[in-house]
Amino acid sequence: MTSRRQFLGGLAATALVTAAGAQAVPRLSLQGTAVQGYPLFVSLSGPVDSPQVEWQGKAYKMIKAEGEERWRAVIPIDIDCPGSASLKVAGLERLVSVKRRNYGMQYLSISPGTLASYDDPQNKADDVAILNAIQRVDDPQFWKGNWKLPCQAPESTGFGQKRLYNGWKKGWHKGLDLAGWEGQAITAPAAGRVIHRARGIVNGNTLVLSHGLGVFSSYFHMSDFAVGSGETVEQGQPIGSVGGTGGFAPHLHWETRCYGAPVFPKAFLQLPADWR
Ligand SMILES: [Zn+2]
Repeated sequence: MTSRRQFLGGLAATALVTAAGAQAVPRLSLQGTAVQGYPLFVSLSGPVDSPQVEWQGKAYKMIKAEGEERWRAVIPIDIDCPGSASLKVAGLERLVSVKRRNYGMQYLSISPGTLASYDDPQNKADDVAILNAIQRVDDPQFWKGNWKLPCQAPESTGFGQKRLYNGWKKGWHKGLDLAGWEGQAITAPAAGRVIHRARGIVNGNTLVLSHGLGVFSSYFHMSDFAVGSGETVEQGQPIGSVGGTGGFAPHLHWETRCYGAPVFPKAFLQLPADWR
């Protein structure tokens, strides 16, 4: 479980790279909990132009809001990330220790028909449409304060569980499930913008919000929608209702993604100080 101890006391401090002379130098700050599957909060100030964070073999664009001095990015720590990884940006490099986390294993027995629907070309197309919608990373940070759970219901399946379907097909649970009842309100966990609304064959009624900085949240199996594509939403605003569309018992499947990669949704409920 997340504890205060996991916060990166050492990394939270701003690292100043000394340079000859009095010239200003870029300052890098890493905040958050460096654990497999968590988001890592990166900010950079100083004389830099359109910086990109290099992390685990990928480059992540940083964003600076109007009037802000710092570039920001929320980058995903891979769920299978090794014990440490090097983060590079603007000529600075930091070795980040990443804690392991065992998210558990789930053995599922499902009907051949349901299993086949996962491989249905339409289901693949539904997922691709979502991934395409979350490729654009140019919204500034819309949220203020810690996020709130989108549905007041107990967690039924946690984020990150490895899954084995019918003893052979591998997968993992990319969101967390909240056991709400059919028709229960789903509210925006944080301010954002509706960037995708669709009816998937397995995902069911699907909504995706952009919260800015490449952070997105998505909602599956909804019974109906309360907002339309392109609408901006405030924290706590109803966005739809819990349902079982896609052929499931009613529940909310809630995902949070950074630059397309699933991350632990509850990490946003207790943000680092500079990111609330
Ligand atoms: Zn789920």
